[in-house]
Amino acid sequence: MSPTYYIKTFGCQQNESDSERIAAMLESRGMVRVNNIYKADRVIINTCMVRQMAEHRVYGTVNNLVINKLKNGLPEKIIVTGCMVGMAVRDKTGNFLRLIKKRMPYVDEFLPIEEVGFDHEPVRSDIITAWVPVSNGCNNFCTFCVVPFTRGREISRPYDEILNECRQLIKKGFKKITLLGMNVNSYGADLVAGAENVQVLRDWHKTYFGKKENISGKVIKNYSLNDGRLVKPVYVKHLNRLRIPTLFPMLLEDIASISDLETVNFISSNPWDFSDELIDVISRHGNITRSLHIAVQSGSNSVLKRMNRWYTGEQYLRLLDKIRGKIKNVRISTDIIVGFCGETEKEFNSTLDLAKRARFYKAYISMYSDRPQTAAHKVFKDDVPHNEKKKRWQILEDLINGTKK
Ligand code: SF4
Repeated sequence: MSPTYYIKTFGCQQNESDSERIAAMLESRGMVRVNNIYKADRVIINTCMVRQMAEHRVYGTVNNLVINKLKNGLPEKIIVTGCMVGMAVRDKTGNFLRLIKKRMPYVDEFLPIEEVGFDHEPVRSDIITAWVPVSNGCNNFCTFCVVPFTRGREISRPYDEILNECRQLIKKGFKKITLLGMNVNSYGADLVAGAENVQVLRDWHKTYFGKKENISGKVIKNYSLNDGRLVKPVYVKHLNRLRIPTLFPMLLEDIASISDLETVNFISSNPWDFSDELIDVISRHGNITRSLHIAVQSGSNSVLKRMNRWYTGEQYLRLLDKIRGKIKNVRISTDIIVGFCGETEKEFNSTLDLAKRARFYKAYISMYSDRPQTAAHKVFKDDVPHNEKKKRWQILEDLINGTKK
C-alpha cells in the first residue's frame, strides 16, 4: 500500500498555494492524500505567524497529533513548514529554532518552504480557480509585520514561467486565475534591477533612470521579455514618487489577454505600487477583477508613520478616487489594524473618518498582535489594552462590515 499524507494549512492564500506544491512533491514520491489527519502516515503542518493566535493553533495541532501517535502509532512522521520555519532559518541567533524545537519536541522535520520548488504541477484544490504565485517575500518592513522575517526578501518568479503556467491552466480548463504575492503589484522589481539593489531601496530618485549606474554602482538593464519588449519603470504619481520599476501592469495585461480566461484576480496590493499604468490596464480588460483589495491599515497619518507605511490617509483616498474614476463598478476592500502601539482615541477616529469616506465594500479588521523580530516589537509598546482593541474592532466592524450595502 502506498504511504499516505495529510497537509494542515494555516494562514493566507500564499500558504494554501504552497501546500498545493508540497502535495505535488509528495505525490511525485508515490504518496497518496487522505482526508483524515489522524489516518495519515505523514502529516505536514504549514504554519502561519501573522498573529499570535495562529502560532498557538499550530502548537495545539502538533500536541493532538502527538497524543494520537502515542495511542495509535500515527502519524509516523510530523513535518512542520511555512512561516514558523521561515522565521527559524532566518533568525541568525538560533533562538527561534530552539524555541520551536522546545515547544514541539516530537516534530520529525522542520522543512523550509524554499526547498519545495516549482518542479511539479501543483495538486490544485479547485478545478475552476487556480492560484499562481508570482513572487515570494517582501521588502517593505511595515513595523507590525512578520512577513519579511518569515518569507524573506521579495523574489519574483520569471515572467515567462508565470505566463506559460497561466496559458497551460487555461488549456486545461481553468477559468479563473488569482495571482499571489505579498506585495503583488511590485512584482518584477528584482528582475529588472537585481534583487540586491531593490532590497535596499524603497523609491528611486528620478535621476537614477536614464543613467547607466544606480547608487550601488551596478548597471541598470531594462528587462527584456522573450518577445523582445522592454519594461518601462512605473511612476506612482499619486505619491509623487518614482517607485522601483515593477513589471506587474505588463504581466497582468499579458495574462488578461489569454483567450478563454474568464477572470484574473490578484492579491495583495499595496497603495504605493498602485500605479496609473496598473489602473489603465484594469480598466482596459473586462476580465480583470473589479474587486480590488488595497490594504490601508490605518487612517491616521501618525499611525501610518509608526507603521512605516509610506502614504498618508489623504493620498490613499485620492488613489481610490482615481481608481473609481477610471474603473466602473469597482469594489474596494481593505485590511485595517486597530490598537497598534500607542494608537490614541484621536488616531482611531482618523481611521473611522477614512473608513466613512473610503466606502469600502469589505474590511479585514484585526487587533494588533505583537510579533517577534518586527520593529514594532523592538521599538514600541503594545500598550492599547485588549478591551480597548476589542471595542475599536467592533466599532469599525459595525461601520464597514455590519450592514452590507
Ligand atoms: S507590505 Fe504587507 S507583507 Fe510586506 S511588510 Fe508590509 S504588511 Fe507585511
